[in-house]
Amino acid sequence: MGGAEQDYVNEAFETNWIAPLGPNVNAFEHAIRSQLGDNVHVAALSSGTAAIHLGLQLLGVGHGDEVLCQSFTFSASANPIMYLGATPVFVDSEVDTWNISPELLRKAIENRILEKGLPKAIIAVHLYGMPYKVDEIHAIAKEYGIPVLEDSAEALGSTYMDKPCGAFGDIGVLSFNGNKIITTSGGGALTAKSKTLTDKAIFLATQARDDAPHYQHSNVGYNYRMSNVLAGIGRGQMEVLQNRVDSRRSNFEYYQNELASLKEIEFIDEAEGFYSNRWLSCVLTPSFEIREGIRLALLEENIESRPLWKPLHMQPIFSQYKTFVDGTSEDLFSRGLCLPSGSNLSSEDLKRVSDCIKKVLL
Ligand SMILES: *Cc1c(COP(=O)(O)O)cnc(C)c1O
Repeated sequence: MGGAEQDYVNEAFETNWIAPLGPNVNAFEHAIRSQLGDNVHVAALSSGTAAIHLGLQLLGVGHGDEVLCQSFTFSASANPIMYLGATPVFVDSEVDTWNISPELLRKAIENRILEKGLPKAIIAVHLYGMPYKVDEIHAIAKEYGIPVLEDSAEALGSTYMDKPCGAFGDIGVLSFNGNKIITTSGGGALTAKSKTLTDKAIFLATQARDDAPHYQHSNVGYNYRMSNVLAGIGRGQMEVLQNRVDSRRSNFEYYQNELASLKEIEFIDEAEGFYSNRWLSCVLTPSFEIREGIRLALLEENIESRPLWKPLHMQPIFSQYKTFVDGTSEDLFSRGLCLPSGSNLSSEDLKRVSDCIKKVLL
């Protein structure tokens, strides 16, 4: 925690706003908006997954529709496609950003138009905080008239061409889960360029109550709004967002400098105009065997590390769906490792991790 969170939470108690609405929710949304820009509207929700669920619905995704989804991501990017009875179609990543490949996206769209019809939405992800190729992906989406849901769950604080991630998509999604760059313990937000859309999201997120003195419902609603207590944590966290980004980036730089001499360790650079929050520090090794050697040596020292996300098209639950892949994410999954990346790592911690990796490789 940064410091002010407890005060805002106390404020909720003192004013008895213990509900999924209240001054902290409004102020938290305002703070997110200040970060993302005035052209963006924000609805604070109970999770990033809830935001994806509502976002897809706002984009008109329903039963039987197809949704193109980046395969190299966390399962929560795609689960809401299933909640809606729609069908995921997975698209592989490119090597520069590890995110959705413009070439394969185009190929997938062309194929689906021929075989099934226009896909209803594209889910693109700024994985590990690295922006996807926003201009290229959005140009393709625009060309075919398909809306983009921008999964920015891992990328609050990242920017692309000096513009903040989370504000690019027809719908944007943020997460404040406990493992993210800032947290409300659990929480999320949906962003959109029109207030009509965020109002609709809030309507659906609060049980879809019609305007009537009694409880009346013409839509299926959800209980997805953020608690005013948790939004208090979020207000405090927004004040230290840049500080958290600086810590994460400094972890990455430390590893990069410390491990520079090892030919077996490769880092992903930021291309011109790409600024990553470096949510997690990830490395690529030459092979699965070397990656496992490092992971197990770290584990031996009681240091947790983890392989990169297993592509969704390889997941048992999603393996039957159509895929447009060229082996990129499968290769990243087999050779890549997320190193300890917390904002509170000390330089001794970072040195311990680096020394352990050096010992394995030297
Ligand atoms: C964490 C995460 C989500 C889901 O967010 P929750 O708040 O945990 O529901 C979605 N997509 C990606 C890429 C994530 O990392």
